[in-house]
Amino acid sequence: MKYVRFSYHNTISYGILEENTIKVLEGSPFGEYTITETAIPREKVQLLTPCDFSKAVCIGLNYIDHALEFQLPIPTEPVVFIKPSTSALAHLGTVQYPKQCNRLDYEAELAIVIGKKAKDVEVADVGPYILGYTCANDITARDLQPKQGQWTVAKSFDTFCPFGPFISDEVDPSNLSIESRVNGKTLQKSNSSNLIFGVPFLVSYLSKIMTLLPGDIILTGTPGGISGMHHGDTVEIIIEGLGVLKNTIG
Ligand code: MG
Repeated sequence: MKYVRFSYHNTISYGILEENTIKVLEGSPFGEYTITETAIPREKVQLLTPCDFSKAVCIGLNYIDHALEFQLPIPTEPVVFIKPSTSALAHLGTVQYPKQCNRLDYEAELAIVIGKKAKDVEVADVGPYILGYTCANDITARDLQPKQGQWTVAKSFDTFCPFGPFISDEVDPSNLSIESRVNGKTLQKSNSSNLIFGVPFLVSYLSKIMTLLPGDIILTGTPGGISGMHHGDTVEIIIEGLGVLKNTIG
């Protein structure tokens, strides 16, 4: 299934995306739902973030080539930080360029979407806790990152967590091509098979630190090839089977 959340005639609903049609759900994929007879063409709706999250838990330096481009050691434990719920941004939304930032970066990331409350889950048992996967962009005020000594400020501005356009449970997260493009030019290209810490390990590891709630997302890290963006740029994150997440820089 490919799950979307959308606004249509001032009503917000979840739906199932099939080709270019959305079948409207009664209820939500994070609980009970039924698929109704109502179908709406995709171009008639405004897609929203595919869920609301209480937290976006992010993993830093989870691709070897990205750690090397910062001349940092390969982590032996995941590097973890959190983006606030106010950083969420939908597909086609505009990223706000903060006044105090002089270098704004994209980071293409595979995101895990938690489907049900997860606490102290073992690696072998994570499957039922994952609703699916989506594209995410870990927008970063790069010049503010070293100034702070930790990453919260650089990663937490409003609109710094675009994700979507849909959540799919039809992909194998251990082998997905992942790419970013700015103004149509490919700048990152890798595969989720290059993750240092993979999806089952991360869900288990994080669930032993904090309770993961339905709708929470985990950004799994970005491959090498990061660089800056400018006002008016278009940035796209493309992940195999997960569509294209497109945003502009305001
Ligand atoms: Mg990142």
